[in-house]
Amino acid sequence: MKVTSYFEKAKDSTLISFEVLPPLKGGSMEAIFNTLDPLMEFKPPFIDVTYHREEYIYVKKPSGYYEKTAIRKRPGTVGICAAIMHRYGVDAVPHLICGGFTKEDTENALIDLNFLNINNVLALRGDARKFEGKFVPETDGHAYALDLIKQISKMNKGVYLDSNIENGEKTDFCIGIAGYPEKHYEAPNMENDLHWTKAKIDAGADYIVTQMFFNNQAYFDYVKACRENGINVPIVPGLKPLTKKYQLNSIPRIFHVDLPEDLAKEMLRAKNAEARVQVGIEWCIMQSKELKAAGVPCLHYYTMGDSETIRKIAEAVY
Ligand code: FAD
Repeated sequence: MKVTSYFEKAKDSTLISFEVLPPLKGGSMEAIFNTLDPLMEFKPPFIDVTYHREEYIYVKKPSGYYEKTAIRKRPGTVGICAAIMHRYGVDAVPHLICGGFTKEDTENALIDLNFLNINNVLALRGDARKFEGKFVPETDGHAYALDLIKQISKMNKGVYLDSNIENGEKTDFCIGIAGYPEKHYEAPNMENDLHWTKAKIDAGADYIVTQMFFNNQAYFDYVKACRENGINVPIVPGLKPLTKKYQLNSIPRIFHVDLPEDLAKEMLRAKNAEARVQVGIEWCIMQSKELKAAGVPCLHYYTMGDSETIRKIAEAVY
């Protein structure tokens, strides 16, 4: 079933969903099942699986020189989606990115998903690779998520890249996109960011999942700004609990979000690792309860392999 159909069916109640990362190459599916098994009692109708493009690493050769080598550290998104659907009987939402994909690769990936009866995708651009200052698309790849959405929407109308295909099967993908309550870090301002978000909706995107945020007011302001700019699709808040002291610096650096002063102070005041986890859990419960009371369509938790923490939050909220 489509993600948006779940929202329609749930009417005013708030669903729950989770996001998992594929294990590092060489890891097993057990890692995913170990994360999800303890969370399935909360009955998520869908589970997201992230996509990770290849990264460059430098491998030391016997000569002493280093060779730049491209590896994919976390392959397996599509296989994990199929395994999740098979094991739990819930829908899986693979993330699909522009980075590393030609349009042809994208078309073939969408054909695979369609054959697997996976009808939901989260369409994203992907970030710049670590050694590149800015995002560089493949030759004949998409530079923005907007172009990826246009391609998916065309396939939903039976239009494939090869114009010789007549009566091509119409796919029926429900398309999610990313939204940024604190603005995407490359956007010059919120208005500009919302302009492109609206363009993605107009091109066929059905709903938005937000970047993590730690101050609910940022989400509420974002939803208001979206509505004022004609963006009327469901906006699902993405939540992640802080659990470690170093995240006070790493989360703002990596995800370009602010951490409220009260949360940062509590984390610094906590006496040990256990107490810091507790601070993060309590903050996330407080955020979740307020969002649920405000009637958000779904609370989407970034698990990052930590089911224990997410479980404690879900238990307190659902
Ligand atoms: P875009 O929509 O392409 O936007 C990128 C920037 O360009 C923005 O500043 C936007 O305002 C601007 N822009 C958009 N369209 C245009 C246009 N046509 N012309 C000019 N400017 C434009 N990354 C992964 O690699 N794998 C994942 O699985 C993954 N999952 C994610 C899940 C969520 C919920 C979120 C919030 C992010 C996720 N990301 C993931 C990170 C995401 O790929 C990055 O945030 C990336 O930098 C931007 O992706 P986007 O789809 O928002 O890009």
